[in-house]
This record gives sequence, C-alpha cells and structure tokens, in this order.
Amino acid sequence: MTETILNVDNLHISFKTQTGTVSAVRGVNFELKKGETLAIVGESGSGKSVTAKSIMRLLPKHNTIISDGKITYENKSLLDLSGKDIAHIRGSEISMVFQDPMTSLNPTMKIGKQIMEGLIKHQSLSKNEAKKRAAEMLAMVGIPNPAERLNAYPHQFSGGMRQRVVIAMALACNPKILIADEPTTALDVTIQAQILDLMKDLQQKTGTAIILITHDLGVVANMADRVAVMYAGKIVEQGTLDEIFYSPQHPYTLGLLQSMPKLHAKRSEALIPIPGTPPDMATLGSGCSFAARCPYTMKVCHHFSPEETTVEGNHTVSCWLQDKRTPADLRPAAIVGGVTNERQ
Ligand code: SF4
Repeated sequence: MTETILNVDNLHISFKTQTGTVSAVRGVNFELKKGETLAIVGESGSGKSVTAKSIMRLLPKHNTIISDGKITYENKSLLDLSGKDIAHIRGSEISMVFQDPMTSLNPTMKIGKQIMEGLIKHQSLSKNEAKKRAAEMLAMVGIPNPAERLNAYPHQFSGGMRQRVVIAMALACNPKILIADEPTTALDVTIQAQILDLMKDLQQKTGTAIILITHDLGVVANMADRVAVMYAGKIVEQGTLDEIFYSPQHPYTLGLLQSMPKLHAKRSEALIPIPGTPPDMATLGSGCSFAARCPYTMKVCHHFSPEETTVEGNHTVSCWLQDKRTPADLRPAAIVGGVTNERQ
C-alpha cells in the first residue's frame, strides 16, 4: 500500500472579523499518499484554499483561529513547528503554486535570481550550481533559450510562461508535495491544457504528490487520482476519481456533475445549475449546510448535521440519505444508481 505523506485530521479554522467569528473549515479530514494527485473541489468560499494555506501555515496570524485538528507531514505536526522549521519545509519539501503567478514572482527581480534564491537557501548550492539548476528547471518546464531567459524580468513573459516559471520555482528543490491552488484559472484554455500536461509530466518524473485545489471538474477529470468535494467548510464526499464521477452519493456532488458541460452532449441536453447560493458562513445553523439548495432535503436535514458514512472502501459521504435509519425508498434513483458522466 502506498505510504501516506500528509494527514489532515479534524481541522477547524475560523477567522475573527469586525462582525464576529466566521467559520471557514469545519472538521476536515483527508490524507495524501506519496506520488498521488488529490483534487479538492468546491465553490468559492467552501474552505478549500484556507485548508491549503493552513498546511503551508500561510494564514494571517492576527485573525486566524485554528481551534482544533492536526496536520501531520512525515511524523511532524506542522501546526506545532517553530517559524524557522516551517520556513525550511515551505519551499523545500512542500511548495505552493497560486492562481496568479504574480503573487509568487517579484516584478523587480530577474527570473533566474528568483529561482536561484530557493536553491541557495534550501539546498546550499553555490551561485554557479544554482544558476545551472535554474536553467535546467526552465528547460524542464518548456521555456526556450533557458540560459538567456534567466536574465529576463517577469513582465517580459506571457501569463502562461510566468505560470511555467512559478511551477519551475516550486519544483526546483524537488518538493515531496506540491499544492496547486487554481493553477490554470487565470490562463487561456489552450495554455491551461499545456500547464496541466506539464504538471502531470513533472509528477511522473519527480514523484511529487499534488494537492490540486479547483472548482473546475474538467481539470479534476484530467488530473486527479482521488477527489474530495468541499461544501461550506466540510468535505461532504471523498473517493477515487471513478467513484466521484460515476457513483456520486452526495446531492451536491451530483449537482456539480450535472452542471458540468459534457464533451459529447447533444444540443438539447441542457446543463442543470444548482439552485441558490452557498450559505453565509457567519450564520450557519445546526443542520446540513446544503439543505436550502438540496432537492432531497428531509426534516432531519434542517436540524442535525449528517455524520460521515462509508459507502465502500475509502469512499465516504456526509448525507442523511446514506444513514441506515433513512428508509431506502427515500433515496433518489440518481444517487442509488449513480450518474453517467463522460469525462472531458
Ligand atoms: Fe440533502 Fe439532507 Fe443530504 Fe444535506 S443531508 S445533502 S439536505 S439529503
């Protein structure tokens, strides 16, 4: 069995705001195996980026409250490490790529110098060795004339090229985990495909495990081994790519899949949007947070939050429809039989 490299256990995160405390992550559990890609999917505000940033300890200290939970990376409790120790892990063992490459690039510094900085700091390379490695990394991510382009500034690259540079920077120190937060959202569709192919290719070469944060199920279908679906700060369903795409058990997962365009859909096949909007995280009640949008809501859903149930193997779901006490005839056919979804 493949070894677990990262474990997130019962993570609870909230933020202090001017109007009170707002929950963002409410009891998230998942594990990441060596070399695999786990996609965390959900709408904006579902808590996926907050979860990712908490692994890197990048959340603002002044207003973040991590009230419970553990994040374990290779037997180290990341939330308990000193600032110096987490700074060492960040960039050398766990790296992150953000949606906007300019978040990671310094516009006033040459590309080469920016890649070299991490190599000199984390791998104790000499200046010449770091320069050689930086050029190799640029070549690896498909930048032509890499030795020359080390002297260019970020504004001299296109958006897609800048994201390649950021990926080169993130992978320069051979991290064991790469967290990619919407890495292709800001890019044109053709460039998106190139960047995803590049990440897959590099993963095969380096064996890096990837946590891919996205709202795009097309990207998930292309990249993921396993999928965690997040809604209102919780993982509501988790399973392999096939389990999530071909046998979704949570009405929200089903809704996401039905609202996704299909490659060979007939013109008459309309997409079915999920009605309503995500709940206000400052005023969440005690029941299921999807109740106001769910087509299968029962009385119990309004009052009690469903617990996590195992469907089969490691396929888990949090929904009252899966509770043994729920009569079988209340379970909708679409969920009992799964839905057929063509991957893009
Ligand atoms: Fe819908 Fe109830 Fe399941 Fe929530 S617990 S997703 S409201 S059926």
